[in-house]
Amino acid sequence: MSLPLENPFVGNPLSEHELCPDELLAGQEAAFQRDIDRLRARSAEFVAVACPACGSAQRFPAFEKYGFIYDRCASCLTIYMNPRPSPQIMEEYYRHSENYAYWAHYIFPASEQARQEKIHRPWLGRVLRYCDQYGIATRTLLEIGPGFGTFAALARESGRFEQVIAVEPTPEMADACRKRGIEVINKRIEDVTENDVPEADVVVSFEVIEHLFAPREFLVQCSKRIGHGGLLVVSCPNGLGFDISMLGAKALAVDPEHVNFFNPRSLSQLVAACGFDVLEVTTPGRLDAEFVHDAILKGVFDISHDPFLKRVMIDEWDRLGWPFQQFLAENGLSSHMWLAARKRST
Ligand SMILES: [Zn+2]
Repeated sequence: MSLPLENPFVGNPLSEHELCPDELLAGQEAAFQRDIDRLRARSAEFVAVACPACGSAQRFPAFEKYGFIYDRCASCLTIYMNPRPSPQIMEEYYRHSENYAYWAHYIFPASEQARQEKIHRPWLGRVLRYCDQYGIATRTLLEIGPGFGTFAALARESGRFEQVIAVEPTPEMADACRKRGIEVINKRIEDVTENDVPEADVVVSFEVIEHLFAPREFLVQCSKRIGHGGLLVVSCPNGLGFDISMLGAKALAVDPEHVNFFNPRSLSQLVAACGFDVLEVTTPGRLDAEFVHDAILKGVFDISHDPFLKRVMIDEWDRLGWPFQQFLAENGLSSHMWLAARKRST
């Protein structure tokens, strides 16, 4: 079988095995399970919330996983954990997380090269394409939640920005970024002021907003750090995408750290309500079909009643798997989405 041609919209095929070596998976799963057990032990302290996207209290049950309950907003279809851990419980969870420690010590060092080339370099290309296409200045780029700093380091090395600054509250991750020569503000974005950072032309935040107790406040804080006409780029899961729609609670993206599953429409409305004009929302995910394919093979998802889906996802997987993923990505149907917005000048 010949390799599929690169799709300029979706990029090259990607496999989750390239990102997390199989031999490390068991250790990571055990560490994560202990984190989950610790979080569940505090569920009596969880806080009831309205829809984090539109504020509606109208909802119906979506699913339950590990004893955590998710609702779906009746108005905007955002899926959200409700009740959910308070910001203080979340902060303590991440501070003591064995899963994050395992990642830092084992998975990240073993997979960084693959992540850099397969994920972060295409991300940088996409951010630069937005800057070129929408005429965004490229003096200062602020990354909120840089983790180990892979993207920020690439952005800095690209030479396209005069200054790249990372905002990272976790001391270990802030240190990891500093070791790569990245300028780091070791604070939560909520605590960053104009004295800490210059006005940014571009603010990026990858895979962060789905973790947050109060995403609206987060976007307002992002807006305060961006100059008028500046660019905001956010990526996160799409709760109406293929793998989350098919697998529900069995989707890998559904875990207790992810409390918000927006969709292209609901995230657009929220971002617009926080002072931005949305430029584009895309779903360049590359893993939906593989996640569903794997779930079927492992016997956790049954499609025996659906011969057509079985044909695409199993019988003719080698021929149809990647084209099907491309179809999802190009039509707003993948479970991984990107939103680009410009700060409104008012
Ligand atoms: Zn809603």
